[in-house]
Amino acid sequence: MHWEPDKECMDLEELEQLQLEQLQSTLNRVYSHVPFYRKKFDALGITPEDVGSLDDLARLPFTTKADLRDNYPYGLFAVPMREVVRIHASSGTTGAPTVVGYTRNDIRTWSNLVARILTAGGVTKDDVVQIAFGYGLFTGAFGLHYGAERIGASVIPASSGNTTRQIQIMKDFKTTALVSTPSYALLVGETMQEMGIPVSALSLRYGLFGAEPWSDAMRQEIEGRLGIVATDNYGLSEVIGPGVSGECQERQGLHINEDHFLVEVIDPEKLRPVPPGETGELVITSLTKEAFPMVRYRTHDLSSLLPGPCPCGRTGRRMSRVTGRTDDMLIIKGVNVFPSQIERVLFEIEGTEPHYQIVIERKGAMDEATVMVEAGESIFFDQMRRQREMVDTIRKRLAHELGISVDVKLVEKKTLGRSEGKAKRVIDNRKL
Ligand SMILES: [Zn+2]
Repeated sequence: MHWEPDKECMDLEELEQLQLEQLQSTLNRVYSHVPFYRKKFDALGITPEDVGSLDDLARLPFTTKADLRDNYPYGLFAVPMREVVRIHASSGTTGAPTVVGYTRNDIRTWSNLVARILTAGGVTKDDVVQIAFGYGLFTGAFGLHYGAERIGASVIPASSGNTTRQIQIMKDFKTTALVSTPSYALLVGETMQEMGIPVSALSLRYGLFGAEPWSDAMRQEIEGRLGIVATDNYGLSEVIGPGVSGECQERQGLHINEDHFLVEVIDPEKLRPVPPGETGELVITSLTKEAFPMVRYRTHDLSSLLPGPCPCGRTGRRMSRVTGRTDDMLIIKGVNVFPSQIERVLFEIEGTEPHYQIVIERKGAMDEATVMVEAGESIFFDQMRRQREMVDTIRKRLAHELGISVDVKLVEKKTLGRSEGKAKRVIDNRKL
């Protein structure tokens, strides 16, 4: 199933020709309308005319989150405000938020790209799609909403939170597709169990999840609890929002909408492209955006490029699921640790719940990390011996996976906070 088969299954040579033409026109647009880009290009002695092939992309400067902040709010817009029909912003957990804009054409493009991803994930006009992302400045909810409407599906803008009501709606309105973060989907499954609502009481068939990294083990857990086929999709507001890439039902990586985005994977330190298949930082250039074009945006998301055909018939490259962010990387006792590594271990151990938190303290000059893990109902808290065994198993497996020793503490179910958006996995109490 394809939404725009002529685009999604395009001949690769034809695709590259299209990408080059669109890149040149994007560079011309930013050079003449965005002083920030003109200054950067001038400093490097590059003009848009110097870019004669896709390989020349590597000569262009990167754009960073700091550049967006420095140009807050509208400094990087390439069209006058009268042509902007929508404004979104990404949350400013550190510093000022970043603001992005869309023209009428941009909204049309965005809806189409999300429609492709929903279609690849199994959604059709016969589906009832419940959007459990928070509606607001965040691009997730509106992006998926417009894409689902574009397909002709029936959209329920449930927004985030109020999980019992969310489940009631799912049951009564016969929702067939759930759109949320993966961690929220888990919370929905858990809450259903508490409410005594079996999966068979729902009509759910598909889950389209994004906005945070998740593992295959977590996918299996969600699919089991909700009785759905779960696919991953990727995007970020600085580039467009959801719609950059998404999995098809083969689930062999996320198909990149390459006729709209040029995706590179670079070594985050050397800032040079890594070979296909190797993990690095995603860098994205928009090819068709009017209001807020982006040249070589450093996402800090870690992934790899997967060339080669997919059985679904889409021809472009795929990216592996994002495993974490360069800035999520924790350095504990001098060793690089990603929360996703811990998640992978916990999912392999029976009797643990898929909820965990990493607490890091500094005692003297030493880092101490404690992984708090919720124990399932099968582990009763009066069974000291079983608890000790489990703690031991988790500690050993984590030491093996991470290369450092960490403490492990079992806590009762529901002790760790639940999030209705992105899960908070790390509490770093070190004063660094
Ligand atoms: Zn495919």
